[in-house]
Amino acid sequence: MIRAINVQKSFGQLQVLKGIDVEIARGEVMAVIGPSGSGKSTFLRCINFLEEYDQGEIWLGDQLVGYRKRANGTLVKDRADRVTAVRARMGMVFQGFNLFPHMSVLDNVIEGPTVVQRRPRDEAIAEARALLERVGLRHKIDAYPETLSGGQQQRAAIARALAMKPEVMLFDEPTSALDPELVGEVLDVIKSLAADGMTMVIVTHEMGFAREVADRVMMMDDGNLVEIDRPSTMFSNPSHPRTAEFLRRVL
Ligand code: ATP
Ligand code: MG
Repeated sequence: MIRAINVQKSFGQLQVLKGIDVEIARGEVMAVIGPSGSGKSTFLRCINFLEEYDQGEIWLGDQLVGYRKRANGTLVKDRADRVTAVRARMGMVFQGFNLFPHMSVLDNVIEGPTVVQRRPRDEAIAEARALLERVGLRHKIDAYPETLSGGQQQRAAIARALAMKPEVMLFDEPTSALDPELVGEVLDVIKSLAADGMTMVIVTHEMGFAREVADRVMMMDDGNLVEIDRPSTMFSNPSHPRTAEFLRRVL
């Protein structure tokens, strides 16, 4: 479903991704762990081309993300409408600040379907109701984001991303801005997506959650993918010293 081949990215002199190779299967849940500054967010943002990678390729199914290939093999930046189209196949949820503050929960959820996808409003509303039911927010449909708890806001943000019917969901530390008692309700929604077979890439510091939900975990360090394995294996018997050291600090 997602294939990264030798993905490299620099900010000025600083090389942040040093050649990431990974393949994520349809229906797979991949957790991304690693120390602060190791390139986790940058990698996630490269997947949906919020960040332009400088080298390598990222494929979503049979679509090259952000670039097209010339006959001689060189990559050139793709047309904006095609970048938008491939990005629309991926939903993304960040740490916070996901919702439009001046819109009700319902309007947040139907914004993408009606404005971007130009689908009929009543159809979008019916789907939004079902999605909000699913994330436990049916009763907050007319509320404004500032009146919601952090956990409710994140669940609304997930519903909003799902409203676009993405093939892949990308999460960047979706619970790290939340009070501890609100973390569980957001993780439960993500768990239910996993149970439904959603393909997901989740940057997380929640090791218990990664262990429970992820099919595999990739450990990043200093712009490299240093280890990738099933969570049971990696957490009990890490093969790379950097993973062992990182896990000792966080577990
Ligand atoms: P954290 O766990 O703190 O979120 P991370 O693994 O997500 O860290 P990234 O945000 O990907 O790390 O950042 C990797 C490196 O790239 C860091 O050194 C960061 O300072 C740098 N960086 C990220 N975005 C930019 C940017 N827009 N301009 C310059 N440097 C950046
Ligand atoms: Mg980050």
